Amino acid sequence: MLYGLETRNVSAWFGDRKVLDRVSLTVAPGGVTALIGPSGCGKSTYLRILNRMHEMVRGAALAGEVLLDGRDIYDPQQRPTEVRRRIGMVFQRPNPFPAMSVYDNVISGLRLAGIKADRRRKDHLVESSLRRAGLWTEVSSRLRTPGGALSGGQQQRLCIARSLAVSPDILLMDEPCSALDPTSTRRIEETIAELRSELTIVIVTHNMQQAQRVSQSCAFFLATHDTPGHIVESGPTEQLFEAPRDSRTADYVGGRF
Ligand code: ADP
Ligand code: MG
Repeated sequence: MLYGLETRNVSAWFGDRKVLDRVSLTVAPGGVTALIGPSGCGKSTYLRILNRMHEMVRGAALAGEVLLDGRDIYDPQQRPTEVRRRIGMVFQRPNPFPAMSVYDNVISGLRLAGIKADRRRKDHLVESSLRRAGLWTEVSSRLRTPGGALSGGQQQRLCIARSLAVSPDILLMDEPCSALDPTSTRRIEETIAELRSELTIVIVTHNMQQAQRVSQSCAFFLATHDTPGHIVESGPTEQLFEAPRDSRTADYVGGRF
């Protein structure tokens, strides 16, 4: 089952400072949506809002609605841990537990997600998650190796496997390749292309070629000195890149920003 994500008039503040202004976006079930825009326009903040990590930031406030499968993830009846199980996050810097084994890294999110698994189930989850993350053949004989001993690209795929182990409906990725070399980046893009039929992916990227390679829809964020981050334009990726409706989108995707 594929799930979509809809935000309605989401605004965000850090203290008195408004950093997002009435962001509304519908992410269709399945496929990849890319969020693009200059640094500081609120893309990471927006991603954190999508899985209730924003509320963990000191001084952060929020208005608006985020609907997963039609239900507001901020409804008091929804448990934040369950929301974070259903909506996983992968960060810019790969952050496996460095001293923990590859095996234990993959299953490290199970307990918090309330998933009980015996040894056989764990073995299965480790293999299937690593396969889905495109890492199994490289590490199947090294499951006891510390996560920190893997290469940067492998560590990022380990983090993807860890996210997948709790069966998320949505995977949020915040510049997942910007700390990686071109070969590792390619591998992650291949993984994204395979995962997009299984779950819904939202990726922040500064790489315009990457946005075009991996995403089917796209949203362009912008902030200026006197306007908080907002979406200038969103739609099919091809449209944003080939026939943008707003001249600011054309300037940004054309590298004139
Ligand atoms: P982007 O990911 O597009 O570069 P961010 O979401 O990181 O943008 O940041 C949006 C704005 O919010 C920036 O002006 C940034 O300085 C500010 N900001 C981000 N995180 C915090 C925080 N924890 N406290 C205060 N301001 C923050
Ligand atoms: Mg960011």
